[in-house]
Amino acid sequence: MKTDFKLLVNGELIDGVSTFDVVNPATEEAFAQCPRADEAILNRAVAAAKAALPAWSALPVDERAGYIGRLADAMEARIEDFARLLTAEQGKPLDQATYEIGGSIYTLRAFAAMRLPEQTLRSENGGTVIEHRTPLGVCASITPWNFPVILLANKLGPCLVMGNTMVSKPAPTTPLTTLLLAELAADILPAGVFNVVCDQNELGPLITAHPDIAKVAFTGSTATGKKVMASAAENVKRVTLELGGNDAAIVLDDVPARIAAQKVYAGAMANAGQICVAIKRAYVPTAMYEEFCDEIAKLADEAVLDDGAKQGSTIGPIQNRMQFEKVRGLIEDAKQRGRVVAGGNVPDRKGFFIPPTVIADLDDDAPLVREEQFGPVLPVLKYDDIEDVIARANDSPYGLGGTVWGVDQLRAMDVARRIDAGTVWVNQHLAIDPTIPFRGAKQSGLGAEHGLAGLMEYTQAHIVNAVALEIEQA
Ligand code: NAD
Repeated sequence: MKTDFKLLVNGELIDGVSTFDVVNPATEEAFAQCPRADEAILNRAVAAAKAALPAWSALPVDERAGYIGRLADAMEARIEDFARLLTAEQGKPLDQATYEIGGSIYTLRAFAAMRLPEQTLRSENGGTVIEHRTPLGVCASITPWNFPVILLANKLGPCLVMGNTMVSKPAPTTPLTTLLLAELAADILPAGVFNVVCDQNELGPLITAHPDIAKVAFTGSTATGKKVMASAAENVKRVTLELGGNDAAIVLDDVPARIAAQKVYAGAMANAGQICVAIKRAYVPTAMYEEFCDEIAKLADEAVLDDGAKQGSTIGPIQNRMQFEKVRGLIEDAKQRGRVVAGGNVPDRKGFFIPPTVIADLDDDAPLVREEQFGPVLPVLKYDDIEDVIARANDSPYGLGGTVWGVDQLRAMDVARRIDAGTVWVNQHLAIDPTIPFRGAKQSGLGAEHGLAGLMEYTQAHIVNAVALEIEQA
C-alpha cells in the first residue's frame, strides 16, 4: 500500500512543513505519514486557486465537465488502491470502502452531467430579464472522517463544473485518500484548479476567515459548523453546512417485528454507526417491543467485529480514539439507566472496537437518546400513540433525516411528512443520490448539497434586466 503522500498546491505535489502519523484504527498503529501545511502553504494554495479562476471559469462548461469525467475515470482505474487506503485510515470493511469510492466516482460523473441554463424571466414589450449563474470564486471544502472521499466528491463536482476553483482540507485522521485523489488530479486538472492542504486541526479557522475564499462547503459536527458560520460572517462568505443529526426511526404497527429489526439494524450500524443520517433512536410500538428487541439482538450478536481489511468483517472499529471514548462513555451511562439487549462490553484488544450495542427502556432524556452518539449503539424506545411519537421524534435541536417503516405506505408517508427534517425515507434508508437535494433542517445544516439546488450553491445568481433605449426624434 502507498505510504508516501504529498500536498497539492498550484498543480505541484509538494512536501509540508512537517509530517504527522496517520493511525489505522483497527491496530492503533501509524501506517503512513501525512504532510502538514502551515499558514504560508495555505496562502499559496488560495493564491493558486485565485490565479487559476479566470481561465477555468472561461472554459465552456462541457470542457470543464470533461476534466471532471477524466478525474472520475482515473479514480475508477485505481478503485482498489483507494478502497484499501480508505479501510486502512478509516476502518470500514473493504466492501463498504469500495462502495464509497464507487459512489464518489458516480457522484463526480453525475455533477459533470448537470447544467444550469440561463433563464429568461420576462420578455415583453421590448424588455428582457434574464437570470444566469456565475461562479463564486475560490471555494473551500472542509470534510470529516466518516466518509472522506464521497463527502469531498459532493463538493468538488459542483464546484468545478460551475467554474469555481477549490482548496480542500480533509480531516486530520483521514487525509490520505484525499491526497491520493490530489495525486491523480495533478496529472489531469490545470494547475491551481484543485489544491489540497492537510493539518492537525489548525487550518480550519484560517480557511473560514480567509479574505480570498468566497465560499466554505463544510461537513462536520454542529459545534464546529457554528464556528464556521460565525467566522464566515466577517466577509459574508457563502456557506454550506452539513452537520450532525439524531435521526429517529418510527416503526408502525403493521410491520412484522423481524423485518423491522432487520431494517433498523442495518440503518443504525452501517459504517459502525458513523453516518450523519444513521438511525440514532428507534421508536417501536409497545405491543411488538420485546419481539423487536429479541430480533435486533440476534442481528447484533451475529455481527463480525474485526479489522475491515479482514475477509468476513461486517463492522469495523470507530475511526479515532476521541470518538471511541465518547461512544464508550455514552454506553456506560446508558447501562446505568436502561437494559442492555445486545453488546455493551468493549473487547479487550487493540483497536477502537465497539460491538453493536442495543439499549432498551431508556427515558427520553437519557444522553444516549438526546445526543448524537455517532457509533454502533442504538436506544430502542416504546410508544403507544402516533401523535406522541411524532412529537418525541421532533423534540430535538437536530433535523437531518429520519425513517418511517410501514406496510401501509400512504400512512407511513403521512407520518414522514410531519417529521421536522431535511429528508425522511419511507421503507428505505440512505437513498442518497447526487440528483436529489440533501439538506439539514434546524441545527443540522444550512443550504443544500446535491441536485440542481446543490449546484446553485456554487453560483451567484445574476440578473440582467434590459429594455430598449427610446431615442426621441428631433
Ligand atoms: P468536526 O466538526 O470535528 O470536523 C470536521 C472538519 O472540520 C475537520 O476537517 C476538522 O479539521 C475541521 N475543523 C475543526 N475545527 C474547525 C474550525 N474551527 N473551523 C473550520 N474547520 C474546523 O467533525 P467530525 O467529528 O470530523 O465529523 C463527525 C460529524 O460530522 C458528525 O456530527 C456527523 O453527523 C457530521 N456529518 C454530517 C454530514 C452531513 O451531511 N450532514 C455528513 C457526515 C458527517
